[in-house]
Amino acid sequence: MRLFTAGLITETNTFAPWPTGKRGFSEIGPFYGDASTRGREDETGVVAGMWKQLAARDGHEFIEGFFAHAQPSGPTLQSVYEEYRDSMLEELRRRGPCDVALFFLHGAMVSTGCDDCEGDILSRTRRILGPNAAIGALLDPHCHLTPQMTAAADAIVLMKEYPHIDHLERGRELYEICTRAAQRQCRPVTHLFDCRMVGFYPTTTEPMAGLVRRMKEAERRQGVLSVSFGHGFPWGDTPETGSKVLAIADGDARLAESVATEIGHAIYDSRAALLPRYPDIPTALARARSHAGTVVLADTADNSGGGAPSDNISLLRAMLQSGVGEAAYGCIWDPITVQACTEAGVGARLSLRIGGKCGPASGEPMDVVATVQSIVPNHSQQDMGPGRSRMGDSVWLDISGIDVVVMSVRTQTFSPDAFTGLGIDLSSKRIIAVKSSWHFQANFAPIADELIAVATPGAIQMNFAGIDYRKKRDQAFFPRVADPLGRD
Ligand SMILES: [Zn+2]
Repeated sequence: MRLFTAGLITETNTFAPWPTGKRGFSEIGPFYGDASTRGREDETGVVAGMWKQLAARDGHEFIEGFFAHAQPSGPTLQSVYEEYRDSMLEELRRRGPCDVALFFLHGAMVSTGCDDCEGDILSRTRRILGPNAAIGALLDPHCHLTPQMTAAADAIVLMKEYPHIDHLERGRELYEICTRAAQRQCRPVTHLFDCRMVGFYPTTTEPMAGLVRRMKEAERRQGVLSVSFGHGFPWGDTPETGSKVLAIADGDARLAESVATEIGHAIYDSRAALLPRYPDIPTALARARSHAGTVVLADTADNSGGGAPSDNISLLRAMLQSGVGEAAYGCIWDPITVQACTEAGVGARLSLRIGGKCGPASGEPMDVVATVQSIVPNHSQQDMGPGRSRMGDSVWLDISGIDVVVMSVRTQTFSPDAFTGLGIDLSSKRIIAVKSSWHFQANFAPIADELIAVATPGAIQMNFAGIDYRKKRDQAFFPRVADPLGRD
């Protein structure tokens, strides 16, 4: 068979202050047919490489198209979206008929002219390939699963875990379903169940961990091909925003419907327990200070992985004011500070204004005197998988005894080497504060005695009932409405 692959990934925070343009997509890639070799450090390259290996194993012809990825921010400029989309589709047309098309997309990409970029890409692909080709998409669970996507694709598979440590497993499942469908060995039919919820669902704790086990159990039933939970992305305002369950069965629409409804009801019935309840900054700091071991604090609301600026320093200010010692904080996105420190050099002691630079969600800035401890050009950190996440030129600052990392490429803090790569010794730290909502858990858990997600101020607030939706405004959803499905 002939197998085509491509990818276009960004998660759009429609409330973020800046548009996503070519600069955002050029931090890694874009790759015109060589992501699997040149982009090995990026997740898009890792997934392209995996599909390439599977195609080689099975003797299929592998056509590698366009892959690009941008850090979450505001809506993608329409001209940029259309240029990249058309790059993918023109190549698909040019390379002739294909039996299978596999896409690695996010699922919450919004452009200035389209609320459902992935639905648009998949629908256009269907029009090019016709009804007989198998079309599949691997999506992030923080997606808006839309009827347009499910109508156009034969199979959509989402990562089940948050932190998303399972993209390779899920990518393999998608490959198997789609290659079997193209050879008429199975006939995927899908059902989408709308939970009428907006929420945030880490899978490392209960009740979500148990619900993931239940989804996997349902997948072992006869005739069930895949079960996914679309958590939804609360900070993307579209008519389809929200939590949904997608089930795929082999030729049996009723089975798909019953499984999606069963899992959807199980999630819905746990909705009160699933609401995030994080301690505020003073409570979290008190808990951390009373702990004998190493505590990792998450600055959850200023996570660039959800489109936040990563320069709200409210948690750092509180740490400085409460006089915590043996602490590290990172990573602040502030290219201006990095530039000044790089000019001044290691050992320089400087007056700096840090934080609060990007807009109201960045909070108030702080004037500090800092010592430049180290400078690393083109710094990077391990992300959740085998890939690495670029941080650009980065500096380690000593601010009144707290080791602070400032970076020039915006990314969330995934891994201890964001600090240790600059020379910071984390083994002596009692408090390590990181700008991430949940992904940090995958790599920080091994060095932490306790992990605490903190309710910090910032762009991605967990008060879902209070999000100022315009496109979703008239829809009843939990927690704005207590029982929108009327099951109580
Ligand atoms: Zn995600």
